[in-house]
Amino acid sequence: MVAVHSAVRGPALGGCRMLHYDGARAAVRDALRLSRAMTFKSAVAGLPLGGGKGLIMAPDPASPARRGLRADALRDFGETVQSLGGSYISAEDVGTSARDMEVIASTTQHVTGLSRKRGGSGDPSPWTALGVETAIRVSCELVFGSPSLEKRTLALAGLGHVGRHVAQLCAKGGARLLVTDIDRSKRELARELGAQWIEPAAALPSAADVFVPCALGGVLDHDSVARLGAPIVVGAANNQLASDDVASALAERGILWAPDFVVNAGGIINISVELEPAGYDPRRARTLVREIGDTLRLILDDARATHVSPLAAAMTLARARLAEAAAQS
Ligand code: NAD
Repeated sequence: MVAVHSAVRGPALGGCRMLHYDGARAAVRDALRLSRAMTFKSAVAGLPLGGGKGLIMAPDPASPARRGLRADALRDFGETVQSLGGSYISAEDVGTSARDMEVIASTTQHVTGLSRKRGGSGDPSPWTALGVETAIRVSCELVFGSPSLEKRTLALAGLGHVGRHVAQLCAKGGARLLVTDIDRSKRELARELGAQWIEPAAALPSAADVFVPCALGGVLDHDSVARLGAPIVVGAANNQLASDDVASALAERGILWAPDFVVNAGGIINISVELEPAGYDPRRARTLVREIGDTLRLILDDARATHVSPLAAAMTLARARLAEAAAQS
């Protein structure tokens, strides 16, 4: 299925997620929620794109679809995308890869994130990670007075496609890392990074400087916010807040939460470069992804000055950019 939340700023771009759901209702809900988040993510990043999301319901977690069935599902999805005539553009997401995008490309031209060999922008995860690392530094600067990661302790949950790159970048920057994943085979990666392995339940309450959620969403609710050990939360995970009012609970506890859709826009920014007339240029992508730091600073300064949560300040910026585009069209 495809959800198009907004095409006011341009075609609705959003990844195609392949996951198992407890029924179509849960899947539709997820697609709608994620497509809305994409609208705000692209608007805050100033991209000429709207918000959409693709979703393929995987049959059963215990019996992953056979390779042939997977390709059939991807091709069917491509036909759906094609029928929308370019108002939705697909990309990779949780459960899909650049290889899957090539299969989708056999039935539609409205797909991005193809491999670099095919002239595409490749895996978005390192770019998402670069944006997260930039946002961690900006947040440290605001809270501790320096963007340096030397002597900072980071508790990172989720050593997946993005999390592993965030961990690598932060380790290179001199941070001490506490890492975890529900997949215990990631212990080996933790060892390679020189990071300390902790149990999944220990990440959120650990007395680190920054909690870095890089797994799935919904990790911050009223209960978990009361248990948070770090004064800063910056991570790649989408939809970290179980509900919008959690943003106020974080602010009341004096915890700086960097809005996820601002922080994790690096992947889509990288993809947007692929859509530019001049074609993909990694140097331009790097410059644009680093600008996430300026956008975040603007939002956090505005939140402080107007006594609102970072979420409210980010939404105000997104709405202003959407209104601007609507007025011009
Ligand atoms: P991924 O599936 O590669 O990695 C997620 C990792 O989290 C896996 O290793 C998984 O085992 C682990 N995990 C799941 N539940 C956990 C838990 N409770 N505690 C600890 N670890 C747990 O996904 P990804 O591509 O790295 O994306 C991570 C998050 O970032 C997702 O929320 C995704 O929507 C978001 N995001 C990703 C990108 C991107 O470029 N890939 C862009 C924007 C946002």
